[in-house]
Amino acid sequence: MSKPLNITIWNEFWHERNNPVVGEIYPNGIHAVLADAMRKRGFESIRTATLDEPEHGLSQEVLDQTDVLLWWGHKKHNDVSDEVVARVHARVLQGMGMVVLHSGHYSKIFKRLTGTACTVNWREDGERERIWVVTPEHPIAQGLDRYFELEKEEMYGEPFEVPAPDELVFLSWFKGGEVFRSGCCYVRGRGRIFYFRPGHETFPTYYDQTVQHVIANGIRWAAPVMMDREPPANVKRDPIEPTD
Ligand code: ZN
Repeated sequence: MSKPLNITIWNEFWHERNNPVVGEIYPNGIHAVLADAMRKRGFESIRTATLDEPEHGLSQEVLDQTDVLLWWGHKKHNDVSDEVVARVHARVLQGMGMVVLHSGHYSKIFKRLTGTACTVNWREDGERERIWVVTPEHPIAQGLDRYFELEKEEMYGEPFEVPAPDELVFLSWFKGGEVFRSGCCYVRGRGRIFYFRPGHETFPTYYDQTVQHVIANGIRWAAPVMMDREPPANVKRDPIEPTD
């Protein structure tokens, strides 16, 4: 039997304490709701971390023990220290998975991993989002129908300034007419990254069962492939056969 995945859920945890609308939906923070939801979906080893903790709760020790890191941030992207971003980046290259949520598209870590501006068009009107499954055979789409809907969400519209995803799982349509690549998979080094769009803080999106299901699938997909062994090191080597 394989060992349980170690999951760390990182949340900025600012809006919940500074906007009463958000505080009412997520009184203990988005991270607490996600942790509870993932526990109910069978993940046993979950910890949370937030911006205001020492080293934002992401010490080297915590990251070394993390298989998959979830990331929700918005207003305080620039308050995340460059040292911690470099540490997370290095761990992804080593094989740690990441699930980047909603406005995390504009986080320092996602911009560093993609190497692009990561800007989007947006509108906060609480309109319907229809999320189409465009790659039904993908592990992250398992258990889903052709599409699912969220009645009230913020709109993100194309062009999403990111590299072409290695795999595109979801494409969103919004009532106002825009579309958006809302489920993007990337591989950087040995690490897998899944960007999943929904989750604006003034709507109860993370209580939605389908959204939780997708995040759980995303965690399983992003889990390190080489869980129990280090790959052979890249070092200076003697030839296997004589070279002359
Ligand atoms: Zn938002």
